[in-house]
Parts: sequence; C-alpha cells; structure tokens
Amino acid sequence: MFPITHFLFSIIPIMLLFPIYKYLSLAFLIGSYLIDFDHYLWYIICKKDFNPKKAYWWCRESRQKDQMHIFHTIEFWVLMFLLSFVHIFFKLVFIGMIFHLIFDFIDYIYEEESGKGHKGTRAFSFIIWLRRH
Ligand SMILES: [Zn+2]
Repeated sequence: MFPITHFLFSIIPIMLLFPIYKYLSLAFLIGSYLIDFDHYLWYIICKKDFNPKKAYWWCRESRQKDQMHIFHTIEFWVLMFLLSFVHIFFKLVFIGMIFHLIFDFIDYIYEEESGKGHKGTRAFSFIIWLRRH
C-alpha cells in the first residue's frame, strides 16, 4: 500500500480519537503511518544511501527476498503490546499499528490475486531473520 493511502486512511480514526485524547491521538499516526519508516531504514542499510526519493522508488519496485522491516516484525509487535500497558501513548501507537497491518494484509491479498504479489519478501520475525543471516 502506498504511504499516502496509509496516511489518508488514518485521518478518520485520528479525528475520532482527538476529542478524547487531544494531541496524544497523533500517536495513532506513528503506528498507522510512520511505522513504514522501516522501509527507508532498510533502503539505507542495503544501498548505503539516504536519498528519500530513490528510496521510495526502490521500495516500490524491489522484489528483494527476506527484507527486514523491523517495525513489522512480531518481536516489535510484542514489545509495543507490552508497552501499551505502561502508557496510553504506546497503546495508541499499538492500535495504529494494528490498523496499519490490516491494510498491509489486505494489500497482500489483493496483490496475490492480481498476480503482482510480493508476499514473502518481508521477514516476519527478527530472530528468525537473524538466524538465517
Ligand atoms: Zn506496512
């Protein structure tokens, strides 16, 4: 899913959360939108380059196997889940992450059905990924 789509879909939940949590509701945006910053981090590691425009196109077109998107791993999820009991900020980030990944999975299913899928290009566990490398 494109970053702008994640951002646009995040606006309605943030508007719903705002009357309750005020500016803290922007924590939802961290989970629902900024979580994809790990794509950029992976680009920096792989290409040794910081150009965000090149990173965007590389991430869109790359079918590289076993990509490490650290914020999409089960270990990071467990960490955020546990932190969500500590402070409402982390809870809102975690809820945003769930929201984000629902759209990521819908996108996977759509791409697989349309034949342009890249399912399996992302590692889902950091520990298992580390053992492979
Ligand atoms: Zn994502």
